[in-house]
Amino acid sequence: MNPQTSLRRVVIVGGGTAGWMAAAALSRLRRNGQTEITLIESDEIGTVGVGEATIPPIQTFNALIGLDEADFLRRTQGTFKVGIEFRDFTRLGHSYIHPFGEFGADMEAIKFHQFWLKLQKLGRTPGIDAYNLCAMAAALGRFEKPRSDRPPGPLSSLTYAYHFDAGLYARYLRDLSEPRGVVRREGRVVDVSLRGEDGHIESVTLEGGLKVEGDLFIDCSGFRGLLMEQALGTGYEDWTHWLPCDRAVAVPCEGAAAPTPYTRATARIAGWQWRIPLQHRIGNGYVYSSAHISDDEAAATLLANLDGKPLADPRPLRFTTGVRKKAWNRNCVALGLASGFMEPLESTSIHLIQNGVARLLSLFPDGGGVDPVEIEEYNRVSYGQWCAIRDFIILHYHATQRDDSEFWRHCGTMPIPDSLQRKLDLWRGKGRVFRYDDELFGESSWIAVLLGQVGLPQGYDPLADTLPVEEVDYNLQRMRQYVRRVAEAMPTHEAFIRSYCPAQ
Ligand code: FAD
Repeated sequence: MNPQTSLRRVVIVGGGTAGWMAAAALSRLRRNGQTEITLIESDEIGTVGVGEATIPPIQTFNALIGLDEADFLRRTQGTFKVGIEFRDFTRLGHSYIHPFGEFGADMEAIKFHQFWLKLQKLGRTPGIDAYNLCAMAAALGRFEKPRSDRPPGPLSSLTYAYHFDAGLYARYLRDLSEPRGVVRREGRVVDVSLRGEDGHIESVTLEGGLKVEGDLFIDCSGFRGLLMEQALGTGYEDWTHWLPCDRAVAVPCEGAAAPTPYTRATARIAGWQWRIPLQHRIGNGYVYSSAHISDDEAAATLLANLDGKPLADPRPLRFTTGVRKKAWNRNCVALGLASGFMEPLESTSIHLIQNGVARLLSLFPDGGGVDPVEIEEYNRVSYGQWCAIRDFIILHYHATQRDDSEFWRHCGTMPIPDSLQRKLDLWRGKGRVFRYDDELFGESSWIAVLLGQVGLPQGYDPLADTLPVEEVDYNLQRMRQYVRRVAEAMPTHEAFIRSYCPAQ
């Protein structure tokens, strides 16, 4: 890109979830008439097609691109999600939920969970889920959107995300983006031309000879990283030594009459199985380590653990967990699977796309061309966020008591990143949890998974002793009664969907 000219032509290579999310956001927010957006995709190559569970910030993205929530859910067969249930991760027969939203309410600027830890030690409180509205709604199978007649806040309103059909979501975003000026080109990219002087991408050539030139290229080509890796040789940081699962097998099955308002992750002998309820079917898959189980055994395990009749043949997928060494290199930004692969255990990949798009918009290189300082900032923030999510996911594997298979013995004893070790040490002493920098998962998420996987810390913050125990006891009792009352007054998840957004 010539540093003196403003950026005019954006070329997105790839039309999966990442490509169409980028197209939808750019076409909505770059409505200055000066940005031409072209998206190239190949029906013949197709998309990964899995990726059906999300986390709450997706609401912000959907609002930003102008989606009507009920219409979006109808068109994507969507359901609501208030958390993830983890079964058999800590030990066989054990389960816990990582709910969205907060646990209880802080008192006198002292964290709620410290009071709860104190009462727990005194045997005066039930489990912490009793203080989280999402956990309660999940247990009761209830759902309701925030109501104007209730005070706002996590104890009165559910924090939620969605499950949806990823293929239908990409199609929906395409229908939204094309009328806003995004030009779609169908075809396979067979060549990428770099400019002599600075190695920036100049154009891509499609089978048949069509050349598409651009100023900024967004690589959404999936695992192959057509531009970022194959053309620019950016490099990849492999995290398999911490997250050894490298394959998955996926199969949809018939849906349940009453979809649960949460995702379920069940640990298996060499990985874990997901269960994602949509309106028309349930998405299932087994994410596993090929060093610990064969493909046939993994597929057989998955098929033996479905709720209903399979609707298709099991589909194999391969990946290497890790991150591209740069998310932005020269005049190319990678989004989605082209930028790296994060284990789907906490449903974070679509969020990482959203985050990348938002950061690109906030550092959009127009006016003065590409600024190396801005590229460096993009890469610094991006890498930090990936690492923080990575640590959170490693926690689910590492903090296990399971020793019934080679896979779990490996996970329980493997060395872990120092950043995660620090979090574990802080928890084990006095239950201390801190959110660093731009970390995605907040304190309540860490508390849920640390309690679920590691268990209670040895002590609690002595500040919790500054309030009389009777007062703490009374306040906590009121909080959990309130949470239960609100949850019980909600309709069932199924009834809510039926009245708000039934698929056509
Ligand atoms: P793809 O879907 O692979 O799309 C790539 C696009 O590039 C396609 O349109 C293809 O046609 C095009 N393309 C490729 N090469 C060429 C070429 N030469 N010429 C032209 N076009 C080309 N994410 C979540 O948020 N939640 C989840 O629950 C979740 N679960 C997952 C489970 C598994 C097992 C896996 C593997 C992923 C999961 N993900 C999940 C991640 C999610 O699927 C992806 O982040 C998301 O689908 C984005 O994919 P993509 O658009 O980057 O790539």
